[in-house]
Amino acid sequence: MNQSKSHIVILPSVGISHLIPFVEFAKRLVSQHNNFHVTCIIPTNGPPPQIAKAIVEALPTTIDAIFLPPVSFDDLVANPLAPLTLTVSRSLSSIRNVLESLLSKTHVAAFLTNFFGIDSLDVVKELNIPSYIFFPSPATVLSLFLHLPKLDESLSSEIRYLPETMKIPGCIPIPAEDFPGGGTFQDRKGDSFKRFLHIGKRISSVEGIIVNSFTDMESGVIIALQDGAGANNPPVYPTGPLVQTGSSSEEDRSGCLRWLDNQPLGSVLYVSFGSGGTLSRAQLCELALGLEMSEQKFLWVVRRPNDESPSAAYLSDKSQFDPSDVLPSGFLERTEGQGLVVTSWVPQTQILSHGAIGGFLTHCGWNSTLECVVFGVPQIVWPLFAEQKMNALILVEDKKVALRPKANENGFVEREEIAKVVKELMEGEEGKRLGQRMGDLKEAAARALSKDGSSTASLSELASKWENVEAPKVE
Ligand code: UDP
Repeated sequence: MNQSKSHIVILPSVGISHLIPFVEFAKRLVSQHNNFHVTCIIPTNGPPPQIAKAIVEALPTTIDAIFLPPVSFDDLVANPLAPLTLTVSRSLSSIRNVLESLLSKTHVAAFLTNFFGIDSLDVVKELNIPSYIFFPSPATVLSLFLHLPKLDESLSSEIRYLPETMKIPGCIPIPAEDFPGGGTFQDRKGDSFKRFLHIGKRISSVEGIIVNSFTDMESGVIIALQDGAGANNPPVYPTGPLVQTGSSSEEDRSGCLRWLDNQPLGSVLYVSFGSGGTLSRAQLCELALGLEMSEQKFLWVVRRPNDESPSAAYLSDKSQFDPSDVLPSGFLERTEGQGLVVTSWVPQTQILSHGAIGGFLTHCGWNSTLECVVFGVPQIVWPLFAEQKMNALILVEDKKVALRPKANENGFVEREEIAKVVKELMEGEEGKRLGQRMGDLKEAAARALSKDGSSTASLSELASKWENVEAPKVE
């Protein structure tokens, strides 16, 4: 470790889709500002996944990574996303050990974690390290979190439910059903609301919030957040879009890139629900039949279906299986030549940047969304969990770069609807308009990251702040 450099510590929560943007932020920081060294502390709930190890192995020498000893949450059954917070809170003594060891050798100018890691902020404060939130979701969601404490204070205690539609400065109106956590969020006595209120209060107490977005993506919200800085909110630094770049997790184990090489330009719909999104068995079969009915080419990453939870595969093993066990009988044979089904981890950014791709049917996780923006790929949105319905709202209603299939009264999307939306995106007039708007966003994203761009300027502002942090005086 070079002690003349400013040292930054980052703590992503468990889960590949959190590790990716943290690491990309660190890579951009050390590549653009050569006076920094980063340590990435990674909590675990078991042996580190192969994909995480591959990401870590490809890091430059100016970024160290430490996997913490695994914690267990076998005692939990309820909320499949609760382990994200608990992995950090159950790792506090290991986090303290790593930080104390670093502080004995060097001066740490900043500590960054996301909202699942907020319990670590007490330890960081005790050690006098300036703390920051790295927010890997849209600025709109950040704004919602920051708005909650004020909203809660303004409502009389007798009002139990939040309004049907939330109006936050700079945002399009957000219907309650699209809040993270769904309808339960509206109930001020419910666990979901209390958890988000707690996050909203804690994240307002840090020195700054770094958000993986950029001005042209969410201009109204970002301007409102920056105007509110100082008075109520900490300064907000949009430094995105930060998307996955080169690591051996990007290997083409399934051969899907070779398959794409043989497809006509813009002809293939890529279908994937992120690192762990799952459909019920019936919905998975219906999606298969809808894709077949659309007669469009597709590349589909199929995960094992799960009737209980839409995020079932998020923290679990992503081992391969025989897709014919879960797809409709004869589907694979009938669609040979029309589509390719894979069950392995795929190199998503290389897929999205491939000329054969014409659209992406996605659960609209924020990383996948930003990857579409960077490569200019229009979307069909199929949100499943977390803040994905809000992401879908931004893409469909605000940016107008995506279509959303309609579900029936039971929340089930039928094959005819799927086929119609897929055809519209891939060969309809509306699909062309969405593609043009996505092309404009792609240019705006490239501008934000260029030498004089807004996200580059935000990163430089942070870097100069961190370079000037003085080491605490020893009494
Ligand atoms: N990803 C990938 N290969 C896969 C599945 C996912 O490279 O087979 C990457 C994808 O490119 C993105 C991340 O994993 O960077 C998924 O993050 P996102 O926020 O879209 O969804 P989440 O996994 O959090 O639901």
